[in-house]
Amino acid sequence: MNGKRYNTLNNELKTIFKEKVMKLSFDGGFTCPNRDGTLGRRGCIFCSEEGSGEFAGSRFVPLKEQAEQQKKLLSSKWKARKYIAYFQNFTNTYGQVERLEKIYNEALELEGIVGLAIATRPDCLDEKILDLLDDLNRKTFLWIELGLQSIHEKSAKFIRRGYPLSTYEKAINELKKRNIRVVTHLIIGLPTESKEDILESVKYVAQTNTWGIKLHSLYIQEGTDLYNYFINNPFKILDKDDYIDIIVNALEILPRDMVVHRVTGDCKKELLVEPKWSADKLSVLTSIDKELKERNTFQGAKNI
Ligand code: SF4
Repeated sequence: MNGKRYNTLNNELKTIFKEKVMKLSFDGGFTCPNRDGTLGRRGCIFCSEEGSGEFAGSRFVPLKEQAEQQKKLLSSKWKARKYIAYFQNFTNTYGQVERLEKIYNEALELEGIVGLAIATRPDCLDEKILDLLDDLNRKTFLWIELGLQSIHEKSAKFIRRGYPLSTYEKAINELKKRNIRVVTHLIIGLPTESKEDILESVKYVAQTNTWGIKLHSLYIQEGTDLYNYFINNPFKILDKDDYIDIIVNALEILPRDMVVHRVTGDCKKELLVEPKWSADKLSVLTSIDKELKERNTFQGAKNI
């Protein structure tokens, strides 16, 4: 695992592509049924104006330009020649299939792009879209990201997710049938959940065995409904030690080869209200590594 005790996306992509591969986050100009009035107008409780994609390019410029801007930003820190086009914010399969096909192919034709990552909702994957994804999966390295966040109905209601667990199950079965990689997002630290509740969601993802997982801390960001809720109903925020403990427990129960895309949150620092410790991402990552080492454990240690 390249010095790590869990299988990072970086490691996985390096193994597959034999060199460093970075993600370029695109804004494809989509909206979301949970925001355009189809299911709701306010979106998920934590969703920001940017549709949970604070680091994506601007929807007002063409993809080519977004790619150039993103590459420039990344180049100050990383040297890479290969990239995954990541449609990150809002619901990136929410549109006419012809439009989706055009925009995905446009991204795939950009210089250095070797794959496609599409973040969406499980209730936005009809037969026609699944067929399109099937075709794309045959010609490029594709993964689909689904924001499940929790398996618990009480949490789904709290975050206003707008679909039941059965919809997610149906979607991952359809995607798996077509050998399409799926990455499941879970939020750690919802006020509706105990540590046991969180680990039940992790166990569920471990058992459904999707290709990848993203674990991120609940963060309260200014300008979201969650922020307003928190101001009016302050709730206990996980402290860093508790968070590290849950992440290490979670990693232990995941399959060894599941690709861990993320183990911490990522929010614009200037908008972050809580948890303050999450602003220091490097420290969180280092603490997770340290804890894994101290416990002499690793991803999959308790996966049965
Ligand atoms: S599904 Fe995604 S884009 Fe839509 S409201 Fe929820 S977080 Fe925002």
